[in-house]
Amino acid sequence: MGAPEAFTTAHDVGHFIHGEPVAGSSGRRQAIYNPATGQVARQLTLASVDEVNAAVASAQAAFPAWADTPPLRRARVMFKFLELMNQHRDTLAAMITAEHGKVFTDAQGEVSRGIDIIEFACGIPQLLKGDYTEQVSTGIDNWTLRQPLGVVAGITPFNFPCMVPCWMFPVAIAAGNSFVLKPSERDPSPSIFMAQLLKDAGLPDGVFNVVQGDKLAVDTLLTHPDVKAISFVGSTPIAQYIYETGARHGKRVQALGGAKNHMVVMPDADLDQAVDALIGAGYGSAGERCMAISVAVAVGDVADKLVPALAARAKTLKIKNGMSLDAEMGPIVTREAQQRIAGYIEHGVTEGATLVVDGRGFTVPGHEQGFWLGGTLFDHVTPEMKIYKEEIFGPVLGVVRVPDFAAAVKLINDHEFGNGVSCFTSDGNVAREFARRIQVGMVGINVPIPVPMAWHGFGGWKKSLFGDMHAYGEEGVRFYTKQKSVMQRWPASIGKGAEFVMPTSK
Ligand code: NAD
Repeated sequence: MGAPEAFTTAHDVGHFIHGEPVAGSSGRRQAIYNPATGQVARQLTLASVDEVNAAVASAQAAFPAWADTPPLRRARVMFKFLELMNQHRDTLAAMITAEHGKVFTDAQGEVSRGIDIIEFACGIPQLLKGDYTEQVSTGIDNWTLRQPLGVVAGITPFNFPCMVPCWMFPVAIAAGNSFVLKPSERDPSPSIFMAQLLKDAGLPDGVFNVVQGDKLAVDTLLTHPDVKAISFVGSTPIAQYIYETGARHGKRVQALGGAKNHMVVMPDADLDQAVDALIGAGYGSAGERCMAISVAVAVGDVADKLVPALAARAKTLKIKNGMSLDAEMGPIVTREAQQRIAGYIEHGVTEGATLVVDGRGFTVPGHEQGFWLGGTLFDHVTPEMKIYKEEIFGPVLGVVRVPDFAAAVKLINDHEFGNGVSCFTSDGNVAREFARRIQVGMVGINVPIPVPMAWHGFGGWKKSLFGDMHAYGEEGVRFYTKQKSVMQRWPASIGKGAEFVMPTSK
């Protein structure tokens, strides 16, 4: 592959309302950085309440005609959008690297996983098929169908600026809803780019809108009477706030939160494979993935070999500007996040964990102002420590030593998060027991990052998900539609006289 073209535009990023880019007039602006250089690359306009209301009004106006459009025709717009996304996947990947910092090849992977959901949404005619029962009573048939909700909104995090919005809007729109997206302030450009591609694919104006913004925009969506459902992905405290506030305002809410994902290494695991998996899942995307592995659970005497092998690899990670094709890890998203993570490392030392590899102070020559941190490794982490309990969301891997399998399962089940988990073993019975007993929503057996495919649905347990329906897959379709049951008979089947008893099957 030749060197990819970097995303360098300096244009301000605004909104996309009623099929048009809108510069925004709130006067509230925020800098968008390139994390690799530490420089301000462009400015973001934050929406006012009026601008959010305008986006919702546009979506509300577009909804009836879009909901009435046959699912097959809606799917054809998705097919066209899919084609355009495939055509522009590298442009999107470069945009992600420029604003998030993750390496270009990883950004390409993100775009691919987003495209998977668009492919799934292209099958909406099949997914919306109802159930039918003939003759539930003499001369009476009963069927169920699913109809769209109306205007629905998505609020998304910085760490997957293309994929996470794609968990939501393709399914919501294909199901006949109109959509308002409020992306992360850190990396907002992919959302505007996708809005334009949707328009180019033939999506009617107003069916998909983007408002850039902060808490003000989120709160306006959360309390707006015309917004029927909210999908949220982000940190746990905000997820809980979104869930409670949205529910209080009568909305359907799915709110995916933070994580602390463990990977168990059993004594019978292939050590080289386990080390590869931990290095990729711990430090890939600088640990800024909700499915990143941040805790290695070393069973028995595994740690004695595991820790030196991890340390050797953590020290030699290729950390550079994500546009370098041989980069394995890029910078941290913001200076603030870099300092927060460094604070956790300091805290880990204070509370007694063994700092085996210290990533603080790392810098890349020529990019000294970038938000860099090296891969960091702790050993002898224990469950009472803050670095064990809290989500660090950075390239910090902690090793917890446990005596046996039962202790590993108990450790994980006692944690407040339950997003992803993995177990490396060559024993089928251990694998089976692990998958059955573990209190976590997404489980990998010898798979470090078990992100479910588009048709299976994504969601954690415990404090990693508020609400009961997972993102995308069939649960996604259910989330964005409501079920209606119709019971029908024709006059020839109606007997004479009023019936005063509860109708039963006759
Ligand atoms: P965040 O919670 O800070 O922000 C997420 C969204 O909420 C953004 O759009 C932001 O503008 C908005 N927001 C932030 N503060 C708000 C407030 N006080 N009121 C209303 N809205 C607010 O998360 P982030 O830092 O962008 O993303 C990282 C977090 O997301 C991590 O905790 C990670 O685990 C989580 N995440 C979870 C999943 C999952 O599927 N469970 C996936 C990706 C990321």
